Amino acid sequence: MLKFIGSGSAFNTKLGNNSAYYKVGNQMLLIDCGSNIFHRIKENNVLEGIEHIHVLITHTHADHVGSLADFIFYSYYCHGEMAKPNVSVYSVYDVKIEELLAINGIIPEVHCITKKISSDIQYKLNFCKVLFERSSHVQEIPSYSIELYIDDKLIYFTGDTNSLKASLRTPIESTKVYDYIYVDTCKADYEGNVHLSLRKLSELVSPNVRSIFWCMHLDESFDRHEAEMLGFNVVTNEF
Ligand SMILES: [Zn+2]
Repeated sequence: MLKFIGSGSAFNTKLGNNSAYYKVGNQMLLIDCGSNIFHRIKENNVLEGIEHIHVLITHTHADHVGSLADFIFYSYYCHGEMAKPNVSVYSVYDVKIEELLAINGIIPEVHCITKKISSDIQYKLNFCKVLFERSSHVQEIPSYSIELYIDDKLIYFTGDTNSLKASLRTPIESTKVYDYIYVDTCKADYEGNVHLSLRKLSELVSPNVRSIFWCMHLDESFDRHEAEMLGFNVVTNEF
């Protein structure tokens, strides 16, 4: 369903930072824009045929927003009509994205459009519905998961997290039946981990519902085969 520009964790330079996209006509949804994502977008012509990009931000760690300013400036000056904003950035009120963009020289409503959203309330874009939910990640900054309703599919994208909300553990019995659940998963497994280890994911999700789970944000030692043998899917990069 979602396509991935990068599917790695912060230091997984081979897979690139975790970032997903989906195109509907001439509109594109982009989830996060980490340090090496602008480079991958440009090198692979991801914006071909796209007139407006809607960027959803999960949190402000560099592997999720590190090249957002480059991406906005590029879109403003070099993609589509010159000097006309064609990027909208959506984030929850306590995610300090405007401050981050400001110190990069980006002026909201000039270079891009910024939209602040309340968590736990569904927000309608013209081609999908979005709902941000707080996730458990680090103390220093807030982090959000995203529920997406797009093309008649209900998707859950955990963002960075070290746990799963209860309704995701038994999704078939839940009132919301997800079609795809994308989950931050790593091989690293230690006390205090701010990401979710494959071992912990296996403990939380029973085998009969694993087929709708897609591991993403993979660290370098992540064993794709091991995850697949356990019944999970693992995302692959488009490029
Ligand atoms: Zn993070």
